[in-house]
This record gives sequence, structure tokens and C-alpha cells, in this order.
Amino acid sequence: MTIDLHQLALATIDAAADELALDGWHRALLRRPERSISVQVPYVTDDGSVEVVPGYRVAHSTARGPAKGGTRFHPDVTPEEVTGLATLMSVKTALMNLPLGGGKGGITIDPKGLSETELESLTRSYTRAIAGQIGPQTDVPAPDVNTDARHMDWIADEYARVTGRHCPGVVTGKSLAAGGSLGRDTATAAGCRTVVHASARRLGLPADARVVVQGFGNAGAHLAAMLAADGLRVVGLSDSRGGIHDPNGLDVAAVGATKATHGSVVHHDAEVVSPDDLLALPCDILVPAALEGAIDRAQAETVQARLVAEAANGPCTAAADAVLADRGVTVVPDVLASAGGVTVSCFEWQQNERGERWSAQDVATRLSSRMECALDDLWRVAERRGLPLRTAACVLGVGRIVEALDRRELTVTHELAS
Ligand code: GLU
Repeated sequence: MTIDLHQLALATIDAAADELALDGWHRALLRRPERSISVQVPYVTDDGSVEVVPGYRVAHSTARGPAKGGTRFHPDVTPEEVTGLATLMSVKTALMNLPLGGGKGGITIDPKGLSETELESLTRSYTRAIAGQIGPQTDVPAPDVNTDARHMDWIADEYARVTGRHCPGVVTGKSLAAGGSLGRDTATAAGCRTVVHASARRLGLPADARVVVQGFGNAGAHLAAMLAADGLRVVGLSDSRGGIHDPNGLDVAAVGATKATHGSVVHHDAEVVSPDDLLALPCDILVPAALEGAIDRAQAETVQARLVAEAANGPCTAAADAVLADRGVTVVPDVLASAGGVTVSCFEWQQNERGERWSAQDVATRLSSRMECALDDLWRVAERRGLPLRTAACVLGVGRIVEALDRRELTVTHELAS
């Protein structure tokens, strides 16, 4: 972890709490998670031995509905990081006005060297360890960094074995065969695409605006392909090994093929650039779609884009955010620009709970209209209160959580007192 995500999340809550002039008990409830567990995760390796790694699941808030958020497998996962990410999920689901709260989970492990059978053993063991915390009406995991539909299918299956109940709504991001939703795999990218177009229109950017996408994972690769198909010029792309640049626009599908064959975008036939130089490339739109803390103060000084859309969680450090604001760069914050995934997760959960199957078109239409609505809400609050978009997003999200807390906690407190 390159930045302290827990501190970033607390700063988010505090900024909103100050702007909303919240009192002590609201702040106290929002600054700490409702429920949080640390577990031991033993798994069987291919040579027959057993390894044990730490895992976590945090439900930050269930004031607006079941906790919701992904599960990451990464060597830098810490309980603080998971708590910070869970807090941001509460803000994200509230900003999107979904009937959900915020949660997050993780295992401290580098999954890159693990075989498929080791990954399955690890994921099933983690599911058994957290089975008492999760459930379709309590806390619903999903994919995050280094996890995908395979892991979600194992979680759904193991949960069914442990509880003896068929319960696909316990986890989202499943394969279609296991009850997943059409459009979930490309949802983060599709949501960000709507945000990029709507924001570019507001800023008066040209139809063939130049885009740089940092990160070529699930979100970055799909988004780059979508934006190129929409007529934007994708002039820079990168993955963890480095970046590439072509001022005339890269052929995103061909870059994807290079990565699939040779392991990295840097093997593509284009100018290779360093991670720092990628962020400083001449462009109109910059999309950080890699890990948190990917843009620091010094890098923010060099950004040439007019619009930054945060497709990753927490990609700008607080110092970078301040520099970008000073330099007049519009930053659409992660809690909106990366919210496509959890929005279609919500659709998947609703389909599972109601026994329905929505068409791809239905999912796409609902997603884009939700993203447009949230962006409109956000821009309105930012203009009315004279706030940067990030603070406005926190005010809107935290404000909605506080409304739910007021309804719930005060009623309970009153009942106890009478
Ligand atoms: N991991 C994604 C996020 O950070 C998706 C969470 C979900 O679908 O619940 O928003």
C-alpha cells in the first residue's frame, strides 16, 4: 500500500462531517466500522502442505442496507486498508443511492504464484472463516483486486455447503452459470465510460479527446476499448511493467492481444514510457485505473489532462488531489467514477433475491441512467455549495447515511428509553 487508505477514508468522513456540521455521535459511528473480523485462512498447497495467511472482512455501515464491497487478494492487504476501503464503499453505495451499505474483505497474499487448485482451497477456506459474517441480507462480497468470477463462484458454493441453503445473493460478480448478471464483468468500465462522456461534455472537450489510461486490468482494459470505440483517441496505456504512447491513438484491441501473448503492454509496437512519463503525457482525459496512491503530489504537478476520472479506488493521494484542484483540473472522484461495478452488483443481488434475469440491454440502460443521475446530483451539490467534486460526493453520500442513521438509531434509542 503506497498511501494510508484508512487515513484517506477518515479525511473523507471528516470533510463531509464538517461541511454538514454533524454532531459527535454521527461522527463516532461513521469513523469506525460497525463490525470487523480478522481470520486465519489455512489452505492446501500443491505439494500437500498447509499454509496459513491472514484474512479480513469489514462491514463499515449497514444503515442503508446490507454491507457491500469487494474482496482483494494482495500482499499489501492490512486490516486498516480493508477498513478504509469499506468506509469508502459506504459513501459510494450511498452516493449511487443503492439500497446497500459498505463493506470490504481481503487476504494478505500474493496470488500470482498460486495454482488454480491452491486458489480454490484458499477461497473456500476464507469463505468458511467469514461465513458467519456474510449473507444476502447482512454483508455481500464481490470481486476486487486480483479476484474475479471464479473466486465468487467458489464463495457462493462454499457458503451453500456451510449453511445448507442455496443462496446465490450472498455474493455478486459470479459467472452467469452460477447466477451472475449480464454486464457485471464490464460494469466498472461501462460506468466510468458514462462518467467520462458526461463530464467531457460539461467541460466542452472535443469528441475525439485524447485519453491516457493507467492500468490494464479489468477496468482499464475494457474502458480503453470502449472509449476507443466511441471515437476518443487512446494515446497512452500502461500496466504494472510500464507504459506505451502513440499520439495518433493506440489500437487497443491489438495492445490487448500483445499483453495476452507476451504478458505486458510494453511489448507492443509503440514508444515505451516510464510510469511517471505516462501521467505527464499531453492528453485531455486521464483515467487512473490501477491501484491506490498511483498519483502523488509530484506527479500531479505534471498532469496535462483537464479531466481526471478515478476508475480505481483512492488513486490520488490527498496532496495530489490538492495540487490538481489548485491547477484547475476537474477530478471525478473514485466513489462515482468506479461505482459501475457495485451498481451492477446491486442489480445482480436484486435479480438473485427476486429470481429474475435481466437482459444485457436492461442492465446497460439502468447502469447509465444511474451514473448520469449521480453525476448530475454531484455537480449540483458541488456548484450550490462551492465545493470540489470529491467533497461534494462525500457530503452527498455521508448525508444519506446520516439520514438512515437518524431514522434507525434514534428510533431504537427511543424504544430502549421508553
Ligand atoms: N470492488 C468493487 C468496488 O470497489 C465492486 C464492489 C461490489 O461490486 O460490491 O467498487
